[in-house]
Amino acid sequence: MSVRVQPELRNQLIQFGIGDWNACYHCGTCTAICPLSEEGFLFPRKKIRLMQMGLKDQLESSVEPWLCYYCGDCSKTCPRDANPGELMMSLRRYLTSKYDWTGLSKKFYTSEVWELAFILLFAALVVIAFLVILPSMGYHFTKELTADGGVKVNSFAPIHIVEIFDWTMAGVVATLLISNILRMYYQIIWKKSKTKVSLWVHIREFWLLIFNFAVQPKFSKCDDKRYWLSHWLLMSGYTIMFIVIVVYLPWFQTEKIYPVWHPQRLLGYYATIGLLFGLGVAIIGRLVRKDVKFQFSHVSDWLFVIMLTLTATTGILIHVFRINGMPVATFISYIAHMAVLVPMILIEVPFSKWSHLAYRPFAVYFAQLKKYAVPK
Ligand code: SF4
Ligand code: SF4
Repeated sequence: MSVRVQPELRNQLIQFGIGDWNACYHCGTCTAICPLSEEGFLFPRKKIRLMQMGLKDQLESSVEPWLCYYCGDCSKTCPRDANPGELMMSLRRYLTSKYDWTGLSKKFYTSEVWELAFILLFAALVVIAFLVILPSMGYHFTKELTADGGVKVNSFAPIHIVEIFDWTMAGVVATLLISNILRMYYQIIWKKSKTKVSLWVHIREFWLLIFNFAVQPKFSKCDDKRYWLSHWLLMSGYTIMFIVIVVYLPWFQTEKIYPVWHPQRLLGYYATIGLLFGLGVAIIGRLVRKDVKFQFSHVSDWLFVIMLTLTATTGILIHVFRINGMPVATFISYIAHMAVLVPMILIEVPFSKWSHLAYRPFAVYFAQLKKYAVPK
C-alpha cells in the first residue's frame, strides 16, 4: 500500500478541536494505562503518531478512535499534558465529518454560525407549522378540556399528522446514518485492504453490535464506573423516548390521563429521570471542569447538552400542564418542545455529537470483523 503524507492534515484537524498534539514525545504511558487498548487495536499513542506524520488515509481507516470512551485516564497520566483523551475525541469529530457525504457535518463542527443557523431555521419552521400551517388545515388550539380534565393536545397537534412527520424524520435520519455507516465500513474494512472477511463472520458477529449498543460493556471497563452508569442512563432514556415518540406515538400522546403506575407514564418517568441524571453529570462536570474529560468543551458538546436539556424540560412541562388542565401553557410548551426536538434530531443525530450512538457500536463490530480477517 502506498503511503501518502499530507502535511496540511494538521490544519484540518485543528478545526475539530485538536490541541497541541506535537507535545507528545511517544513515551507510550497513555497506551499502557488505557483500559480499552488491546492487542491489534493499540491507542491512543499510535493515532497521535499518524496525526503528527500527516498519514491521512491511515487515520481515516482507523477504528480505534471509536473504541475510546473518553475515561480520561490517559490524559491524567500524560507527562507532557498532551491530553490524548481529547485528541481521540477530536478525531471522532473529524471522522464523523469524513463519513458524512453531505459535507454538513464538517460545516457544523467547524462553524458555530452554520450550526446555529440550521437549528434556528428548523425551529422557525416548527413554529410556523403550529401557528400557520396546522390551523389552516383546521387544527386549532382549544381551551376546552377533556372529560378527565386534561388538555386536548390532538386539537392543535393531530396525532396522525405528527406521526407521519415523525416517521418521515426518522426515515431521513436513518437514510443519512446508514449511508454514512456504509462509508465508514468501506474505509475501515474494505479500502486498500489486503485481507477479507467472510459473509458468515459478518452474520455471526452481528450480535456484538446489538449487545454493545444496549450495554456498552467496553465503557464499563473504565475505572470510574459512575460515568458509565450516567452515560448508560442517558442513552437508555433517550432511546426509549425516541422509540415511544416515533414508533408508538398514538400510545404515548393520549388525551386520556392514565394512572401513575400505567406503563405509558412509568416509561416516560424512567426516560426523563435517565436523561436528567445523565445531563446533570455532564453539565456539572463541564461547568466545574475538575475531571480531565470535562476540561475542554467543544461548541458541539455544549449544544448537545443544552438542546437535550431543553427537550427534556419542555417534555416535563407538557406533561405537568396537560394533566393539570392548563391548555395555554401546554400549547406553548408543546411548540417549544418540538422547536428544540426537531432540530436536535435532524442535526445532532446524523451530523454531530449524537451520531456516535450509531458509529461506536458499529466500530466495535467492525473491529471484531478485523480480528477474523484473512489474506485475500
Ligand atoms: S502519555 Fe502523552 S507523551 Fe506519552 S505517548 Fe501518550 S500522549 Fe504522548
Ligand atoms: S480516554 Fe480512556 S479510553 Fe480513551 S484512550 Fe484515554 S485511557 Fe483509553
